[in-house]
Amino acid sequence: MPETPDAPTLDQAALARALSGFHLIGGKLTRPVNGKLFPVVNPATGATVAEAADGDAADVEAAVADAARAQKEWALLPSRRRGALVHQAAQLIRSHVEELARLVALETGKALRTESRVEANNVADIFEFFGGLGGELKGETVPFGPDVLNITVREPLGVVGAIIPWNIPMMLMALKAAPALVAGNSIVVKSAEEAPLAVLRIVELMNRVLPPGVFNILSGQGPECGAPLVAHPLVRKVTFTGSVETGKIISRTAADKLIPVTLELGGKSPMIVFADCDFEKTVQGALTSMRFTRQGQSCTAASRIFVERPIYDRFVAEMTQRVNAMVMGDPLDEKTDIGTIISPAQYEKVQGFIAEGKNTAGAEGRACARMPEDPALRKGLFIQPHIFTGLDRNSRLVREEIFGPVTVVFPFDDAEAVLQDSNDTEFGLAASVWTNNLKIALRFAHRIEAGLVQVNQNLVVQPNLSYGGVKNSGLGKEASLESMLEHFTHKKTIMVNMA
Ligand code: ADP
Repeated sequence: MPETPDAPTLDQAALARALSGFHLIGGKLTRPVNGKLFPVVNPATGATVAEAADGDAADVEAAVADAARAQKEWALLPSRRRGALVHQAAQLIRSHVEELARLVALETGKALRTESRVEANNVADIFEFFGGLGGELKGETVPFGPDVLNITVREPLGVVGAIIPWNIPMMLMALKAAPALVAGNSIVVKSAEEAPLAVLRIVELMNRVLPPGVFNILSGQGPECGAPLVAHPLVRKVTFTGSVETGKIISRTAADKLIPVTLELGGKSPMIVFADCDFEKTVQGALTSMRFTRQGQSCTAASRIFVERPIYDRFVAEMTQRVNAMVMGDPLDEKTDIGTIISPAQYEKVQGFIAEGKNTAGAEGRACARMPEDPALRKGLFIQPHIFTGLDRNSRLVREEIFGPVTVVFPFDDAEAVLQDSNDTEFGLAASVWTNNLKIALRFAHRIEAGLVQVNQNLVVQPNLSYGGVKNSGLGKEASLESMLEHFTHKKTIMVNMA
């Protein structure tokens, strides 16, 4: 076993080097069969901080074979025992929260105080929550008469393939791995190219408690490593978070194998603000809803904000002023609110949207927050948050998911019209309505086409509440008991004739 520390370390650079070049298969840090590596770059400095294993079908084969072997015994454990082990392993996440927060900040550029530490705590919370649900894997009895016993039992699906993105990599892995494991499946995760380190460390830590082979992780590119995982005959379920295009590719492969998929895809979430809202709370809510502290790199970001005309000007002015006051800088600095964009490709994409907005006649783009001045961050992928007004409803900035710190704001006069506008999108992930009028709030909550609608708040995914989109935002739910039962087990019917 290579030298990764047992005790939590706050030297994220050394930890990144120690994790370099490995998958985790069958309980062990394992080198890729092809020997290939790819660089992991700190987006705040441009420096290479590690080399990740560049996995392919050979590693998928090894991981899935081990996972399939381990799953047989894992499934035989009483479900509460599995839950207890997952809960116990979660305590290692708890004791390593600070370490994981620093490591994920290093590879993603997400600010430590506002994002990375919050994410690391959420990961422990998610594993603990599902660890407590082991006893809920219950079946039913169906009465057919005194001489017949009809029951249903929940059985695991087998090996689960999980493909995750880079924006909240640790948390999105936890939302997949925790219910899959507690339900008696084993899992092989394929991490995102941009953020392979913190998730690898989590799997390594949890493997100190879990039996070898039940929780595995590979790094590599989507087509070379993700695709063979989805296609592997022993993978009996795929759970994916990422882009709509990749979700469709994965769905097609899964359809050929007749296996179930859960897909969490994009969003273009509306935030609808009525003039009677609590102004102070709502303006602040716009900042958190837009996930500016995560550079807007969130599926549930309030990237379309509709404000009732009487408070529109004041709202835009106040929001701009507050975003302006946010501190952009070194992700590892406690003073920093906003870190960097994840990668040069995303940087270019977001800058393209901003340039297009700025070149649109009649539109105004307010660039907020000062660029960092520290020379060490000269090559950092920082982008000023932008608040656009005056755009046409058909602008690409209004219709497409930007996945960056760019939001568009519109005034509205008519409630019915704004409801139509809110629903005028291919996506249906999340929405929020801000008003003190309960009647309006409930009417909107029922009529907005989204998997999650919040009133007077816009929180991130919460354990115990089902989370998932409609339309192009995906299929299936995560984060809840329902997600574990419906998406990681099948129901077997057993009929016993005792006549
Ligand atoms: P983004 O480019 O915004 O990160 P993607 O959907 O491309 O979104 O990536 C999300 C995850 O899907 C990543 O882990 C990526 O490697 C993986 N991926 C990309 N293409 C494929 C594919 N063809 N099959 C399986 N996984 C893929």
